[in-house]
Amino acid sequence: MKPPITGRTLVAGVAGQPVAHSLSPLIHNAWLAAAGIDGVYVAFAPDADRFEVFVDGLRGGAIRGLNVTIPFKEVALSIADVVSPRAQKAAAANLLTFETDGRVTADNTDGAGLLMAMAIQAPGFDPKAGPVAVLGAGGAARGAVAALLTAGAPQVRIVNRTLAKAEAVAGAVGLGAVACPLDAAGRAFDGVTAVINATSAGLTGQPALDVPLEATPETAVVMDMVYKPLETPLLARARQLGRRTVDGLEMLIRQAAPSFEAFYGATPPADVDVRGMALDALER
Ligand code: NAP
Repeated sequence: MKPPITGRTLVAGVAGQPVAHSLSPLIHNAWLAAAGIDGVYVAFAPDADRFEVFVDGLRGGAIRGLNVTIPFKEVALSIADVVSPRAQKAAAANLLTFETDGRVTADNTDGAGLLMAMAIQAPGFDPKAGPVAVLGAGGAARGAVAALLTAGAPQVRIVNRTLAKAEAVAGAVGLGAVACPLDAAGRAFDGVTAVINATSAGLTGQPALDVPLEATPETAVVMDMVYKPLETPLLARARQLGRRTVDGLEMLIRQAAPSFEAFYGATPPADVDVRGMALDALER
């Protein structure tokens, strides 16, 4: 049974457009129920061009915080009063917290979620051990590149269909990042410790990425941020080749944990199977 909403219920949520498919309400509300916290987590779909008005209406403590997803991650950063260094480096925010004095703080937990997912599903993966290839040059890729460089990766190769976008990301994140065209992915895979797909290719209904994973060392880890399907064509190919794999659902759950802490002041309880619940929801 759902716990009652009271006069003390803490409110947080996710804003995206569209947002109805988001698994974040399921994850956060399961943690809230298991932790016995008087809180609720809901989804908002503000007009794509009125996000700032939407956020202004929440200033001053109406809500504890918001996760932010496509297409609002960049505008969320630009309207915040305080920006964390990792959000600055990623040039995008997936977390806004609201102070009672009206200020809004922007943070980015995507990179931390990515590294945590790697640590859980590919134990021993060390970002410092060698170059990493990141496929894509959108917001998700930039967050990954920033987190990998901050974690000590000696080089991050940004491999993208539109080379100019990869060059722009490499230029913005600074030393250690290089841009490569997608049709030269084989060369970019030489000697990598990991390949991370941060494009939307492979998502159900979208074409799969055609990249020569066999050019990666046998020890390389292959990670896909796409989690619908859970085993993307890229991960299936990686498994065929005997590479270790990391899925996007683990990243989604791990990026949610620091948000939950920011909203409700507690760590998510470990004894609730949010991954199993999310997998059931993905199959429906
Ligand atoms: P985005 O800003 O729209 O960027 C999309 C990227 O994908 C671009 O680099 C684009 O290349 C590339 N791309 C799209 N279709 C392609 C294709 N058919 N072949 C090659 N490249 C293609 O999106 P985003 O915000 O970065 O998100 C990317 C993906 O990551 C989404 O599927 C998102 O759901 C996922 N994601 C997952 C998590 C998680 O927690 N698991 C977190 C964040 C994001 P061009 O530059 O050439 O157009």
